[in-house]
Amino acid sequence: MALIVQKYGGTSLGSVERIKNVARRIAKWRAAGHDVVAVPSAMAGETNRLIALAREIQPQPDPRELDVVASTGEQVTVGLLSMALLELGLKAKSYTGWQAKVLTDSTYTRARIVSIDESRIRRDLAEGCVAVVAGFQGIDAKGDLTTLGRGGSDTSAVALAAALEADECQIFTDVDGVYTTDPRIVPEARRLHTVTFEEMLEMASLGSKVLQIRSVEFAGKYKVPTRVLSSLTDPLMPVEEEARAGTLITFEEDPHMAMEQAVISGVAAQRDEAKVTVRAVPDKPGIAYAILGPIADAHINVDVIVQNVSHEGLTDLSFTVARADLPRALKILKEQVQPHIKCKEVTGDDRIGKVSIVGMGMRSHAGIASKMFRTLAEEGVNIQMISTSEIKISVVIDEKYTELAVRVLHKAFELDQE
Ligand code: ADP
Ligand code: ASP
Ligand code: MG
Repeated sequence: MALIVQKYGGTSLGSVERIKNVARRIAKWRAAGHDVVAVPSAMAGETNRLIALAREIQPQPDPRELDVVASTGEQVTVGLLSMALLELGLKAKSYTGWQAKVLTDSTYTRARIVSIDESRIRRDLAEGCVAVVAGFQGIDAKGDLTTLGRGGSDTSAVALAAALEADECQIFTDVDGVYTTDPRIVPEARRLHTVTFEEMLEMASLGSKVLQIRSVEFAGKYKVPTRVLSSLTDPLMPVEEEARAGTLITFEEDPHMAMEQAVISGVAAQRDEAKVTVRAVPDKPGIAYAILGPIADAHINVDVIVQNVSHEGLTDLSFTVARADLPRALKILKEQVQPHIKCKEVTGDDRIGKVSIVGMGMRSHAGIASKMFRTLAEEGVNIQMISTSEIKISVVIDEKYTELAVRVLHKAFELDQE
């Protein structure tokens, strides 16, 4: 008998019929003798609808009030899913984030989980009850409602699994696992049977939204065995089969597998960044700090940074920020920085895309970067910026080539082949 935490995404709960199917799937796992904690997201589209409603009243919604509104989607699904389980004759009990004492910090709309008091859930499980705990939401030390950022119910589930020391956290979604790239962009993408935690972390941070990055961080920190699998299969498929389905995140590289493993495991793309360029700044100590210091003070995260070689004592510095932060970054640079450092101009470009290749095999293989750059050159795609880590290479390109770049890189690295 195992303790399983099962997270169900919005599409998996998109209609009453799908909610009933989720209940059937849970009932099957119970019948096989397992304890189950279910973590539903809101019904498909509901969180978007709630945020849009808030914006009709306040274009920039007050973050505390926005969380009060946005967290209601999950309050509906915990209740409905519990009812569906009761209808099947199971014992079930719903909990909101605050009832389950999911304590977070007070960063409204993207709060971090601090602790979970799992004692009540353990009592339910001991009584043979399915605990249905709302994803995406928590409560801060002041007693205010918080949400964990878009896609946050993945993190609720993995954090609960860590707190309960569950045997596995199963993330049920609308794809049957983690693919070599987003299957919506490249139909030839293949499902990975396993993916290392490090690769998953890079893929999630580089735009593969199949898992929220913080859920992957939690899985790594607490070594939670985490599996991504489909909720759109036959809910009564045998438990033994389902237990091996999807993609398992692994924490240790199997040396035999590493030998045979493809060099590259996946391609990820992101379109939510913008590029800032500060032109013709004096090339002298302290300039990067003078430019990026005020950006950091404004809590704007900087991703890729590139500085050109200097020409006659002047250089250009470019960096990327979240697209939503671009206006603020430009304002700070033009008003606070430009008068001091006397650069020629400050410009912004929000039509960029970032495409990355990820793979553990990169550590031991040469020539990966040159193959990536050659592949893009052959398609006439100009590379504006490059950034690398031990297991990834990212390039910033013109946004309009993002999907093309994903497709050609996926093919060039033979990710479509077994
Ligand atoms: P849920 O509502 O279940 O949380 P999401 O929409 O958040 O589902 O995440 C699942 C989606 O992630 C898939 O439908 C797919 O389009 C997208 N996706 C992006 N990259 C990948 C990838 N590498 N593998 C699988 N799915 C991916
Ligand atoms: N319902 C929330 C969202 O849409 C949380 C989630 O789906 O994980 O972002
Ligand atoms: Mg999601």
